[in-house]
Amino acid sequence: MGREDRAMIVRLRPETDEQESEALAAALRRAGLDVTLLTLGGTPLLSVNGRAVPPEVEQELLRHPAVEKLLRPDRPYCLAARSSRPDGTVVRVGPVEIGAKQPVIIAGPCTVENRDQLLRIAEAVRNAGASMLRGGAFKPRTSPYSFQGLGERGLELLAEAREETGLPIVTEVLDTEQVELVARYADMLQIGSRNMMNFALLRKVAATGKPVLLKRGFAATIEEWLLAAEYLLAGGNDQVVLCERGVRSFDPATRFMLDLNAVPLVRQLSHLPIIVDPSHGTGLRELVPPMSFAAIAAGAHGIIVEVHTSPEAALVDGRQSIDPTTLASIVRRVRMLRDMVEELVAV
Ligand code: PEP
Ligand code: MN
Repeated sequence: MGREDRAMIVRLRPETDEQESEALAAALRRAGLDVTLLTLGGTPLLSVNGRAVPPEVEQELLRHPAVEKLLRPDRPYCLAARSSRPDGTVVRVGPVEIGAKQPVIIAGPCTVENRDQLLRIAEAVRNAGASMLRGGAFKPRTSPYSFQGLGERGLELLAEAREETGLPIVTEVLDTEQVELVARYADMLQIGSRNMMNFALLRKVAATGKPVLLKRGFAATIEEWLLAAEYLLAGGNDQVVLCERGVRSFDPATRFMLDLNAVPLVRQLSHLPIIVDPSHGTGLRELVPPMSFAAIAAGAHGIIVEVHTSPEAALVDGRQSIDPTTLASIVRRVRMLRDMVEELVAV
């Protein structure tokens, strides 16, 4: 990645108003620079993209009363880098905070199958202590012949489950054309592993302003993943949660290789919260509890797990789905563990 792929971040003083920020952005654009105006955790920022900033413009910026600091991150992702927000980001999904002290537990079926299945599972995961509900309405299936999800009907059922349980819902959006529809129903939009590098989708999802769950592509490097997050941040959306869900390996013994190295590493490299999906990461329900605990011990801000009241009968991903009783025991122990590891993983 060359010098021209980097951005310079101009951090403005927190009290700078919109008019003042706009005026500064306009002045830089007149100097021939490509500028994006953003806010990150309430602080206004200008990102000067690509081309190097001429020294005389830089000097002017340093003298400008609204400018607090110029940041030239040494990594290609600037806004996602920990240095742009050293205290860390807390993402809010309704009343749920992700990235704060309490670990978040997101649970629900792989796929919304029908009303009875979803409402039953939603109530069971709420009673087990989950704080958000997951469930796919549009499914990214490897085979075109597999069940593709209920589509909009699935979204309606998710909204009904939210009404019944009070749990905010996260569901996947597969395609740029569905973004508005899914955003109308969901509290958080999920970008799946297979779409992590769908840059048009990233841009469109960013523009909704909704919190985003960005899963790691199963063949994506950490840098590629953080650059995908950068698309969301550069699109003006700082409500981004990263989700490690396993990468491809040589070994078919598990469905994927859950890369828990990523957790402490991402916490060092980025201010964004990170959660772990031990269901897709292992593909085996008996590995879900231990890998949930391992994720929390590594410093994850939470987990997302697939739960079904009849795992063997699940239409999709039954082999990796746990039952609600197992979830309740995971929730209890995750809370205990998180208290124990808090001081060890603090960055
Ligand atoms: C999912 O969470 O339903 C899913 C399809 O996961 P992934 O994109 O990680 O495969
Ligand atoms: Mn699944």
